[in-house]
Amino acid sequence: MRPVDKGDAPKQYSDYKKARNDLAGRIGWYCSYCEMPVKNMIEVEHVVPIKNGGAELDWENFLLSCKYCNTLKSDRNTSRNGYFWSDKDNTFLAFTYQSAIIKANGQLNSSQVRIAQSTIDLMGLDRYPGGSNKPTNADTRWISRHESWSVANTSLADWNSSPSESMRRQIGRTASGTGHFSIWMEVFKNEPEVRKELISSFTGICRNCFNAEGNPIPRPNGDL
Ligand SMILES: [Zn+2]
Repeated sequence: MRPVDKGDAPKQYSDYKKARNDLAGRIGWYCSYCEMPVKNMIEVEHVVPIKNGGAELDWENFLLSCKYCNTLKSDRNTSRNGYFWSDKDNTFLAFTYQSAIIKANGQLNSSQVRIAQSTIDLMGLDRYPGGSNKPTNADTRWISRHESWSVANTSLADWNSSPSESMRRQIGRTASGTGHFSIWMEVFKNEPEVRKELISSFTGICRNCFNAEGNPIPRPNGDL
C-alpha cells in the first residue's frame, strides 16, 4: 500500500463526491488501498465510515477507493485504530509483495504484524486464486497486481541489459500507468536510481517516507 500525502484541504465541500478530482489531483487515480489504477468510477471513500461517526465532509477523512475495496471495507471499521492508513503511516512497510500475493511484513513486531493483517482483512487485499482467501469472479484486483508484477519484471530485464537515463524515465512512465507502486518498488528493490524515479513518477507519494536512496523509513508522526 503506497503511502500518500494529500496535503491540506483545498476547500470546504458541500458534497463529499465533489472532492474526487481534487483528491485524484493530489494522490493520483489509484485506489488508496489495493493500488489498482482506476481511471473511471473511482470512489471517494470515508476512512472512518459516516455510519460510525466519521466526518462526511472532512478532507482528513477522505481517501480514494476502487469499488472492490470500498465494498469489502464497507462500515466494518469503527475508527482508524487497529489498522494502517496510507495517509498517516508509511504503509509501504506494512506488507510484502511477491507476484500478486500480498502478506503482512514478517519483519515488523508482533503487534504491527497483527495490525497489518487486520488491514489486509478489512479490504480483502490478499484475495488470490491460489490462496486461502479466494477472489469472487468480479474481483479483478489480483489480475491487476499480476500484470504489474509481470511488466515490472520485464522492465527490470530491460534495465539490466541497457540502463540509461531515458530507460529509467520510461520505466517511471510505464509504472505510473500500470499502477501498483509497491510492486514496482519490490521488483526494483536493488536499483536505487529506479526506485527514486518511481517515487517521483507516482502522483502523491509521501516523500518523507523514503530516504535519499529510495528506501522506506518510518513516517513522521505515523505508527509505521
Ligand atoms: Zn482497491
